[in-house]
Amino acid sequence: MLKHKTALVTGSTSGIGLGIAKALARQGANIVLNGFGDVDGARAEIAALGVDVLYHGADMSRPAEIEDMMRTAAERFGRVDILVNNAGIQHVAAIEDFPPERWDAIIAINLSSAFHTTRLALPAMKAANWGRIINVASVHGLVASAQKSAYVAAKHGIVGLTKVVALETATTGVTCNAICPGWVLTPLVQKQVDAKAAALGISNEEATRLLLGEKEPSMQFTTPEELGELAVFFCSPAANNVRGAAWNMDGGWAAQ
Ligand code: NAD
Repeated sequence: MLKHKTALVTGSTSGIGLGIAKALARQGANIVLNGFGDVDGARAEIAALGVDVLYHGADMSRPAEIEDMMRTAAERFGRVDILVNNAGIQHVAAIEDFPPERWDAIIAINLSSAFHTTRLALPAMKAANWGRIINVASVHGLVASAQKSAYVAAKHGIVGLTKVVALETATTGVTCNAICPGWVLTPLVQKQVDAKAAALGISNEEATRLLLGEKEPSMQFTTPEELGELAVFFCSPAANNVRGAAWNMDGGWAAQ
């Protein structure tokens, strides 16, 4: 379905971003990978699906590096047809203890980077009259949790940005939507499980049950593969008029 299209997924060397990149690659899209860590492993997983892969190591907190990534992607593939704003970090602390530099980093990576990639991708998408912008927000873009001030602010912000972009593109073939996962067992969440186990002196399994039990009625993690399939749906013709949605896949978290 996505042959001859190019998808750029920020933060796609791990977790949800890698899951979405693989789902889009399975549909034939060429992939621009971004992120840190096991770059070679991620590149190999995507290349094995038979599509072209370009890696760019832009730090999403740095607008000049984002500009270079978007320029490099356009030079290599002509344009970015599908933009997935996924890179994100977390920091958990009460607001009076929250390090200001962590606040700035979370707002830059989880929110401002999407403004930069979107403003740079939109002109070519509009010219082609086809494009998909998918923002990986969170259930924390819809509801809050204590100790996550920067993350919740950034995720509510990206849901707002999604709606504005959807309105500004409403009469075009470009759509913009947000995905709002509940718990997904990626390195970002494993850190929170480990911290809970250490703080309460309990096993990893007990900490996982506690984490799910506090918030997620299904008591199940959503998987990167499931989120990848939702992204594929947003790219399908059936989703041509899905605009400005904040679509939760959260085991019932936001229904409470
Ligand atoms: P992860 O830690 O597995 O992956 C994060 C990715 O972002 C990695 O590829 C990492 O290298 C990259 N990254 C981090 N900082 C970066 C930077 N400055 N520049 C470029 N890349 C950077 O985390 P994940 O759980 O897969 O999270 C992906 C997205 O999903 C995030 O936006 C997160 O907020 C969101 N999310 C996660 C969950 C969850 O339960 N895991 C739930 C809801 C939303």
